[in-house]
Amino acid sequence: MTATTPTVTPTSTGPDRAGQVQVSPRPATPIPLNLAPPTTRGKRGKPPRHFVDLTPQERVAAVTELGEKPFRAKQLATHYFTHLDPSPAAMTDLPEASRDTLVRGLFPQLLTPVRTMQADGGTTVKTLWHLFDGAKVESVLMRYPNRSTLCVSSQAGCGMACPFCATGQLGLTRNLSTAEIVEQVRCAAKALADGDVPGGPTRLSNLVFMGMGEPLANYRAVMETVRTLVAPNPDGLGMSARNITVSTVGLVPAIEKLTKEGIPVTLAVSLHAPDDELRDELVPINTRWSVDETLDAARRYFDVTGRRVSIEYALIKDMNDHAWRADLLGEKLAARGKGWVHCNPIPLNPTPGSKWTASEPEVEDEFVRRLRAHGIPTTIRDTRGSDIDGACGQLAAEEDPSA
Ligand code: SAH
Repeated sequence: MTATTPTVTPTSTGPDRAGQVQVSPRPATPIPLNLAPPTTRGKRGKPPRHFVDLTPQERVAAVTELGEKPFRAKQLATHYFTHLDPSPAAMTDLPEASRDTLVRGLFPQLLTPVRTMQADGGTTVKTLWHLFDGAKVESVLMRYPNRSTLCVSSQAGCGMACPFCATGQLGLTRNLSTAEIVEQVRCAAKALADGDVPGGPTRLSNLVFMGMGEPLANYRAVMETVRTLVAPNPDGLGMSARNITVSTVGLVPAIEKLTKEGIPVTLAVSLHAPDDELRDELVPINTRWSVDETLDAARRYFDVTGRRVSIEYALIKDMNDHAWRADLLGEKLAARGKGWVHCNPIPLNPTPGSKWTASEPEVEDEFVRRLRAHGIPTTIRDTRGSDIDGACGQLAAEEDPSA
């Protein structure tokens, strides 16, 4: 682990920073942002050019520009997507001089691991990454007996400001590029393939966009990531779209766009309340698109893709866990038909400074019972990683969790 990249005021992950990022574009005291050496920077503050961000044709052009034969592009794709290893040492089918030129020109280090934390006997691993400009994100890898799931970040911070979510308190720093998201996936897939996670070597089977950020607010990069993940080797990772979950607060026009993509990813909608009055507070974007509009868009997603939609519902004690709210949710979902949806309540994970706590187990049980009574398949979501602040809503990219 290295921590060579200069950071943005390391302890500034609280609400103050959210205020600076979101409200005042020019803080009174200048913050030394973007201290990475200029040579590692891309255009206009973008990450440096990376192989993954290029189309197959652009990859060939880039390889040729570097003075190499066009067929090297395919070899590089195989090293990256099939072997998950774009290091010069691994490229034994290329002449040594070419390896260095190509790797330097096309595989800049976009993510630097700064800290990893483990739980569940090493089968849950949270990694804090520094990006090229000092922005920070986290990803969480969870290995189960029959699958491995990576939870990735699509933005540094988040602009959706949900008050019960740690990332929501940070404000948005910036969108991640496709390569910055895909790199999180490649690194996890490599760790699994290398047997770094207890249980022997295995494949990465599932991916959820439930890390930092609102994936549909970074639509283009997220969709490019999905296309890259599902493209067969050697042009992509060959994952199944069905095993990829895009979780959203409910940006209705973006859900509609996703519906038309023809890629059967799983859609998860973070609802958290069945009534606009409460949802306006818990998920502020609800003031723009109401509960009913959001559920209608989710139902259309099912109609077109045939993919059952997940409704996420963090159960917050005395806030949204009332029996009448379970009934109202059950009614609203059942009114839109059968078999199109399932519900995933999750006991609230604690976040620093929040006054809210998880619902009592009996209240949770009653909530689930009522939803099922309305014919809604319901399963309580597990809260893996909560002891390392790696569970849903706990990602705040803190350098030192004790700080
Ligand atoms: N922005 C996207 C994806 C990231 S959050 C979204 O909101 O869907 C992934 C899931 O964790 C969402 O369902 C989110 O509402 C939920 N979540 C956020 N904070 C939480 C907390 N403190 N406890 C439990 N779940 C939480």
